[in-house]
Amino acid sequence: MKIEKIADNLVLKNGTIIDPYLGKTYEGDVWIKNGKIAGVGNINIPNDSTIINCSGKTITHGFCDIHVHFREPGREDKESLQTGSRAAMAGGFTRVCVMPNTNPPLDTPESINFIIKKAEKCPIHIHPIGAVTKTQGGNDLTEMGLMHQEGAVAFSDDGLPIQDGAMMRIALEYSTLMDLPIINHAEDECLRAEGVMHEGKISTHLGLQGNPDLAESAMVHRDLELAEFTGARLHVPHVSSEKAVHHIRKMKINNEKVTAEVTPHHLFFNDEALRCFNTNLKVAPPIRTEKDRKALIEGVLDGTLDCIATDHAPHTIEDKETTFDLASFGMIGLESCFGAVKKVLVDEEGMTLESLIKLLTVNPRNIMGFDSDLFGEGIEAELIVVDSDQEWTFSREHVQSRSINSPFYNKGLSGKVIHTISCGFITNN
Ligand SMILES: [Zn+2]
Repeated sequence: MKIEKIADNLVLKNGTIIDPYLGKTYEGDVWIKNGKIAGVGNINIPNDSTIINCSGKTITHGFCDIHVHFREPGREDKESLQTGSRAAMAGGFTRVCVMPNTNPPLDTPESINFIIKKAEKCPIHIHPIGAVTKTQGGNDLTEMGLMHQEGAVAFSDDGLPIQDGAMMRIALEYSTLMDLPIINHAEDECLRAEGVMHEGKISTHLGLQGNPDLAESAMVHRDLELAEFTGARLHVPHVSSEKAVHHIRKMKINNEKVTAEVTPHHLFFNDEALRCFNTNLKVAPPIRTEKDRKALIEGVLDGTLDCIATDHAPHTIEDKETTFDLASFGMIGLESCFGAVKKVLVDEEGMTLESLIKLLTVNPRNIMGFDSDLFGEGIEAELIVVDSDQEWTFSREHVQSRSINSPFYNKGLSGKVIHTISCGFITNN
């Protein structure tokens, strides 16, 4: 993948423009002058323009992923803000939120400032999520107010659940002062115990320790009740079970502050896929049954689940090339995201491309309070060009991450990002 500075006058010509903010689809050109939108629709193309022919292609907002792990500081051998940016651009993402479970964790105003400063040199927009508790230890609240002032856009101990209900309550109460979401990795640690995959028929066959859906749904239920009680903004990450979807759907009837995300891998795979013991399918929460997968799709279609987030979690080969029991949890996901969710939700489930794009653009930006009207004149160009009909097979050459732990190799995907335009740069994917 090549990343270049964009030309002073760049025209994306003759594309299908999908504007997920206005909910409009039309044919036309996009003129980008000095990195900013100068015209959209029928434009008089300046003579000295660089022209990219987009006929047969879709031009739309750059994707936004509110849940990635870029491992900086501490484990830059797995991913850094720079390598993570390349992975993001390969997948069409121009904006991401990084989780704070780094080493050390992002649990102080200074550590938030460290990410903000480093991100300025990256070709995408990177926003830090601050830890809820110091060292993510679950006991003492961080200086959330000061971290917010430095640029934290939400709070989470992701990777680790906030086990103590009273701590979760205090975090939610405190977050209302800043009106920022609390994102709790919902897995009851006692119920999860040593589980390495979904507890069910397949885990029994394979002789692997199971992690029941209750571990997730019980804590999601607790969090929803605490959110209602405190009036805070709860965002439920990586929903994996039918039971959790059910709880969220019910709560959303009377509480519009609750939001939720789903990952491409929970939409794409079910626990049958683990029969091959591929450690790249070991994630937390686990890949569950076909019934759960179908319930997640249903949740996306009826708006219970608001957005797609990858939970991009890079790990070294050593972390993954071991027994299933010992392998680390997590997979990379930025590069394969669009092709995977387009295949499942549009090709197989009949969702419109427009609706899918909202799940990757306007909806996640709204949850985080980012500007979601990206075709306005004078706005910094944060766009992608997509070949939505392209069928392709995911392979190592598509990976830009420093890590390679993906279960999508040799999977047929549908829809490919061709160019990503962000921070004055353009990729040729
Ligand atoms: Zn998590």
